[in-house]
Amino acid sequence: MRVPAKVNLQLAVGPRREDGFHDLVNVFHAVSLFDEVTVKAAPSRRPSPPGGVGSAAATVFAGLTAGGALGSHLARVPLDGSNLAARAVTLLAERTGRGLPVTVHLDKHIPVAGGMAGGSADAAAALLACDRLWDCGLPLEELLGYAADLGSDVPFALMGSTAVGMGRGEILRPMTSPGRFRWVFALSAHGLSTASVFGEYDRIRPDAPEPRPDRALAEALADGDPVALGAALTNDLQEAALSLLPELERTLKTGSGAGALGAVVSGSGPTCAFLVGGGDERESVVAEREAAVVAALEGSGLCEQVVTAYGDVPGATVL
Ligand code: ATP
Repeated sequence: MRVPAKVNLQLAVGPRREDGFHDLVNVFHAVSLFDEVTVKAAPSRRPSPPGGVGSAAATVFAGLTAGGALGSHLARVPLDGSNLAARAVTLLAERTGRGLPVTVHLDKHIPVAGGMAGGSADAAAALLACDRLWDCGLPLEELLGYAADLGSDVPFALMGSTAVGMGRGEILRPMTSPGRFRWVFALSAHGLSTASVFGEYDRIRPDAPEPRPDRALAEALADGDPVALGAALTNDLQEAALSLLPELERTLKTGSGAGALGAVVSGSGPTCAFLVGGGDERESVVAEREAAVVAALEGSGLCEQVVTAYGDVPGATVL
């Protein structure tokens, strides 16, 4: 399976709810930074369970490995049953009562704890892979429901493209755009835990208003206008991420100073996203702007890695 990372074009966060979650308006945009997830039937160690939902689930996850050129990030990927991809395998077996033992390999390219939903992407890929491998043939609606039970960002990784998520982020409505956009991402050597960023947000914004969709952003997307889109990028969690990792402010300024059309922390950070062009712009103009932003970020010594990508792209895909 190939599954994309996401960047948030808008992330509006309401006040903390009684249940600890926050209402969000979350415009997801899938970009061409992919994890590859391989799910293989494992040699059966015990006879298949005689049926019964619990017994199938107990035996299906037979191990997980991870690789990829991600510098310090790879060490943060859990290799046991707590990995989101492993949890997806177990959840599908629990819900369907099906499942033969599988091993999972993750070829990671999406930064870990980087605000680009890499774990959620792997979970979506594992869910779809097991649906195919076990011949479950579940309709997309049902898979999306299981995905939402695994995490707020998992349904979008199944869907891909560009979509607005409401509620906790799991109710999705597609947003189409005639434009394709080019991005530069500055990966930090540090990770930021989503929970700590939300905690910091609650501390500094106890009076947060109800989140609302941004009309300027919707128009920029509908027009495929990269300049208007760059100006419309917003993330309510940015201030909290900067409060926890102040150096991110310099990273954002470096990319903007080099000509990026928009600069924003992706999700809960610390990855910084820079829109460098797209739509009707001439390819040479975009390439020149992209090269300037990449060179400035690489020369700044502020990030571990700088990568380029385009969006949007489809969600989890069987290769
Ligand atoms: P989001 O943008 O959805 O808030 P994120 O991109 O910031 O998430 P992830 O890369 O999804 O963060 O990982 C968050 C944490 O989840 C990691 O620190 C790691 O401990 C754990 N984790 C579980 N499964 C995975 C996985 N398959 N890949 C990466 N991290 C995983």
